Amino acid sequence: MTLLGLRECGLAKGNIKGKADTHVLRVSGRLTRGEGFATREIALSDAVLAELGPRDNWKFDLPLYTTGREVCHASNPQCDVCPFRRVCAYAKSATA
Ligand code: SF4
Repeated sequence: MTLLGLRECGLAKGNIKGKADTHVLRVSGRLTRGEGFATREIALSDAVLAELGPRDNWKFDLPLYTTGREVCHASNPQCDVCPFRRVCAYAKSATA
């Protein structure tokens, strides 16, 4: 569901800069804390991404979306071929 869709449903309120896409939420959460963010954690995902880099979180959108669609599947993520494997909290915990 897109951010616009969530806003239309009244689930996302306030100054949310990131995209409420399931791939983006899953990958951003796995990268930073070892588990994907839930839809209700959009604001937290946004805050975490803001800590990481670009002032505009939308710059994370396509790489996170593409990673989620191509390799970081909800079940059975393909960490061995993922470009983020060396910095990903999920991948580190899986190999620890
Ligand atoms: S390393 Fe694994 S868990 Fe982390 S983003 Fe890549 S596929 Fe997802």
